[in-house]
Amino acid sequence: MLILMALNTPKEHIDKVKEKIISMQCTPHVIPGDSKLAIGITGPTESLKRVDFQVMPSVEEVVRVTKKFKLVSRMMKSDDTIINIGNHKIGGKELLIIAGPCAVENRNQIFEIAGQLKEMGINFLRAGAYKPRSSPYSFQGLKEKGLQILSDVKKEFDMHIVTEALNQSTVAAVAEVADIIQLGARNMQNFALLEEVGKTQKPVLLKRGLSATVEDLLLSAEYIVAQNNYNVILCERGIRTFETSTRNTLDLNAVPVIKKNSHLPIIVDPSHGIGIGEKVPAMAMASIAAGADGLIIEVHSHPDKALSDGYQSLDPQTFEKTLNKIRQLAEIVDRTLA
Ligand code: PEP
Ligand code: MN
Repeated sequence: MLILMALNTPKEHIDKVKEKIISMQCTPHVIPGDSKLAIGITGPTESLKRVDFQVMPSVEEVVRVTKKFKLVSRMMKSDDTIINIGNHKIGGKELLIIAGPCAVENRNQIFEIAGQLKEMGINFLRAGAYKPRSSPYSFQGLKEKGLQILSDVKKEFDMHIVTEALNQSTVAAVAEVADIIQLGARNMQNFALLEEVGKTQKPVLLKRGLSATVEDLLLSAEYIVAQNNYNVILCERGIRTFETSTRNTLDLNAVPVIKKNSHLPIIVDPSHGIGIGEKVPAMAMASIAAGADGLIIEVHSHPDKALSDGYQSLDPQTFEKTLNKIRQLAEIVDRTLA
């Protein structure tokens, strides 16, 4: 349920509404917005009656939210959520471009690629220090040492860092270095981790699970937002289907569907989405055409030597060409590139 009040509602009227919600064993959430003051209600709302709130002073409207996801839905918050990082506004007109290798492999590798990307105007560097790998025998990441390298490269090139938190015990260390904490596809429904990351109040990049529906993804985002952390960037990264000619099936349908149903920004990862470097530029373009708020792309200075996901990584030259095409496309879809 959603209660709408005027922006200049006196505090005691807001407090009265909150108290009533709590007295009915539910939780009030004051939702940021610039046209109305909105209080979302979560919990056992079935027993609440609209009239209970309609009669209260300063209440203008009481709306039942019919979707399973509440705080992330457009019904609760009609204006797009904008996430501020440095002088970037994610979810606004500017496209977010995150690029970098799958994993931190060593200091030279990260400094080399960061320098190349910065030169192209990229301000968000991705690289995993903790890697979720399908096989326990594959490279698992440099862990704490990887975080240290990311912290050093961040200072050297003044870039924002996007890196994954694999479990609850590493959230604090990752949050120290990351400007955006990545939650991987395999962890999309690790609800304890979602809550832990939500509590940091840091921006979160939440990747869609391999077999997750759009509704599952939005319900997972709800766990983070329920911690009063609205800084959630959703990410379509391909799903498992019967198709075997590509690594995953990039579900670009999800982009306009999510745009309609949620106020959160949605970006696309064409690298994992298709899994073949040569075909990544096409899907990157398609993602922007579909209305995505940005891209996360794997780029490695020497893809043939990468310790993980080399086959789907672009080399810097190919990435730069793709970036130039995206710049042209951005104009057509009324977006900009930093
Ligand atoms: C990654 O970004 O390198 C990664 C592991 O992605 P996903 O969780 O989407 O598989
Ligand atoms: Mn990867």
